[in-house]
Amino acid sequence: MRVGVLAVQGAFIEHMRICQELGAETFEIRCAEDLEKKFDGLILPGGESTAQSLLLHQLGMFDTLRTLIENDLPVMGTCAGMILLAQHIENEPQAHFSTLPITVVRNGYGRQLGSFTATFDVGEALNFKARFIRAPYISQVGEGVRVLARFDGRIVAAQSGNQVAYAFHPELGGDTRLHENFLRKVG
Ligand code: GLN
Repeated sequence: MRVGVLAVQGAFIEHMRICQELGAETFEIRCAEDLEKKFDGLILPGGESTAQSLLLHQLGMFDTLRTLIENDLPVMGTCAGMILLAQHIENEPQAHFSTLPITVVRNGYGRQLGSFTATFDVGEALNFKARFIRAPYISQVGEGVRVLARFDGRIVAAQSGNQVAYAFHPELGGDTRLHENFLRKVG
């Protein structure tokens, strides 16, 4: 089982470490040639969605990645990664991959509120301690989307088919349950 972790910008190292700990082979996706390798799952990490999207276009990876996601490659998007997947971004003129039928609000908790931790259930993972860093939230979900978690009345995790998205950083805090769920889908 091989997981590609987008590594053009942002917080990819912890994702790689956790997947390796859980027995998966990982590699960094940094340039178009990396996409020629065979892989069974994709992680889009946190960071800055606009910078990531721009780099994906500049490096010639954007269309290939979108096609892979559309063709059912299991993908986990966290924070900025969730913004990349979202079909609509309420406070931005343009979406990115636009493959997951959700609407997100970028920097939804305000730019001032840098980071915070909250504990809630994420699907079957009860009492997950979630770390938010300049996080988005989901304001609307489309048909066929399963809401996995709510915090403070807002949707913060959702899944549809091969795509799962978290507004927070499941790679921080030492709880590997959400990565275990993802790897089960991959392998
Ligand atoms: N605020 C970032 C964005 O809009 C996301 C923050 C994160 O990934 N931790 O892309």
